[in-house]
Amino acid sequence: MLKNVFVLALIVVLTLPGCTMEKKEKEQGYTARDELLGTEIIINIKNSKEAPGACDDIFERIKQIQGKMTVHNIESEIAILNANAGVKKVSLSQDTYNVLQEALTLSSLTGGAFDPTVGPLVKLWGFDSKNFGVPTDKEIQDKLNLVDYRQLQIEKSRDTFMAMLPRDGQAVDLGGIAKGYAGDEAKRILLSHGIKQGIINLGGNIVAVGTKEGGSAWRVGIQNPLAPRGTFLGILQLKDKAVVTSGGYERYFYENGNRYHHIIDPQTGFPSESDLLSVTIIANQSLMSDALSTGVFVMGLYKGLELMEELEGVEAIFVTRDKKVFITSGIRDIFQLIDGDFSYEQYK
Ligand code: AMP
Ligand code: MG
Repeated sequence: MLKNVFVLALIVVLTLPGCTMEKKEKEQGYTARDELLGTEIIINIKNSKEAPGACDDIFERIKQIQGKMTVHNIESEIAILNANAGVKKVSLSQDTYNVLQEALTLSSLTGGAFDPTVGPLVKLWGFDSKNFGVPTDKEIQDKLNLVDYRQLQIEKSRDTFMAMLPRDGQAVDLGGIAKGYAGDEAKRILLSHGIKQGIINLGGNIVAVGTKEGGSAWRVGIQNPLAPRGTFLGILQLKDKAVVTSGGYERYFYENGNRYHHIIDPQTGFPSESDLLSVTIIANQSLMSDALSTGVFVMGLYKGLELMEELEGVEAIFVTRDKKVFITSGIRDIFQLIDGDFSYEQYK
């Protein structure tokens, strides 16, 4: 049941995040922005009397999600879960429980390439604090022993939600999935205000709600991972889909001439060394796109492709280190290459 896949090539040199709306679409209608979840969130919808209230509600909701799930606030539910690792179970809101539950499902789907218990390694490399540094092999081994999504226990009975990390030092990090959840919630809030069309951009995670005025597709630019932010390698035409790109070019530091990025391979404890520069996932749910983009990036091209071909309702764009791009067959008609340095090549 493998879909056809295509390859293409790109070039250039530099850095930065995911997918962005083309400028002219950003400038139309009503736009609201806020800095949350460590990124800039931009909502672009049609001007209406509902628009400001809907955006306020969205930002309030995302603040709430941030308050529950960030590791940067010792009072967040995730920070409390981590502080009680090896000690006791803690109670959670339904929100955090739901995200943990989805995170575990996607961990298992990616064979542990996505793993929300990667926290001790994220911390060790300094990606939580920006206090970067290459750890010793011994330090990496010690932390690696703590990483295993199968050990994270979650339970629910009626209206009570609990979780526990059984071993001292274990830690959950939802940096690879929380923005996705926030995107789904933002969409739900727009719809609840009767707003059926719009674009929500969470630092490059795009939620395209409905269609443009008149029913045509939104045009979403896919970042060239080797070029400055806003340089697109292609354009996707989307109706009611969520798009997320993950790549080693998004956050990194240099030490002794080597570059170390923020997506950790839970098998090695090192920044993932796959053959990929970036992975873009297109799905109905932003949470799914987010977790899969991180996990599939770690899986690498071939394993990642196999998984993307098996999964219904999910499409992907893979950009490899040797400047090729693979596209799942479901987006062949809606993805357009705009950089002449790229060219398609069929995988199977
Ligand atoms: P993203 O930018 O969505 O690909 O997510 C990267 C963020 O997720 C990192 O900054 C970490 O907080 C966290 N993370 C890193 N590696 C992993 C992994 N293998 N599985 C789950 N989360 C990860
Ligand atoms: Mg992600």
